[in-house]
Amino acid sequence: MAAGAARRDPGSGGERRILCVGLVCLDIISVVEAYPPEDSDTRCLSQRWQRGGNASNSCTVLALLGAPVSFMGSLAPGHAADFVLSDLRRYGVDARHAVRQHDGSLPASVVIASARRGTRTILHAHGNLPDVTARDFEKVDLSRFKWIHWEVFISKDLAQHFGYSSAPEALRGLRSRVQPRATMICAWAEAGADAMGPDGEILHSDAFPPETVVDTLGAGDTFNAAVIFALSEGKSLQEALTFGCRIAGKKCGIQGFDGLV
Ligand code: ADP
Repeated sequence: MAAGAARRDPGSGGERRILCVGLVCLDIISVVEAYPPEDSDTRCLSQRWQRGGNASNSCTVLALLGAPVSFMGSLAPGHAADFVLSDLRRYGVDARHAVRQHDGSLPASVVIASARRGTRTILHAHGNLPDVTARDFEKVDLSRFKWIHWEVFISKDLAQHFGYSSAPEALRGLRSRVQPRATMICAWAEAGADAMGPDGEILHSDAFPPETVVDTLGAGDTFNAAVIFALSEGKSLQEALTFGCRIAGKKCGIQGFDGLV
């Protein structure tokens, strides 16, 4: 799959691209049979390095779906950054807007993935890497892009942080905090996802559970990417919501992203 995406020339003109702005990091993923007790010594089923970070994961999925996609975010000096940069390129993601910083280290996450329950427990180290700035952004030729993704989507984590216990509750509650007629989308794991369009009507899609849930790391990023892909192709909000849940459900049934499409 990655090889197919890599055949696309990231610099070619013509079709307008999707830009995802945000985090790229290194995920060190240990797959274990079951989440270990504290202070135990456990043998992993497998361990891998994987490029992670919300924006970078969404770029991976968009590339696999066949969209011309670019990544913008901070990169540290060093081996871990070289690894993620070459991995972005392997998937055909245009990384020309990645900003190489002189100081700091690449953020890294240690992830404990439970094969039995499909859960992912994340320990994230921020790495003191400076963020991209408005000045970096000014250098980007925006006419190349049909869609720029920052943070529009509301995650379950954020919604719970604000005290909401379901997606529709979060959408109704947060409506007064966003621009009038803004579209809000909120995914909620096994409960699927909901969206509120400009007219305030709530739309819903159930989740599409795979036969076995093996890896939910990046499910939200996959959902976001699939929704963006569908909307940028002119699909309706309901169609995009359903497509997002379908692709995210498929992702939960595989390790990583290869084989998603
Ligand atoms: P994250 O925690 O990665 O931000 P969520 O857990 O909210 O994301 O999941 C995003 C989407 O992934 C959900 O809307 C759903 O479609 C799908 N998903 C997540 N977990 C499961 C699951 N166990 N079974 C089926 N689909 C799931």
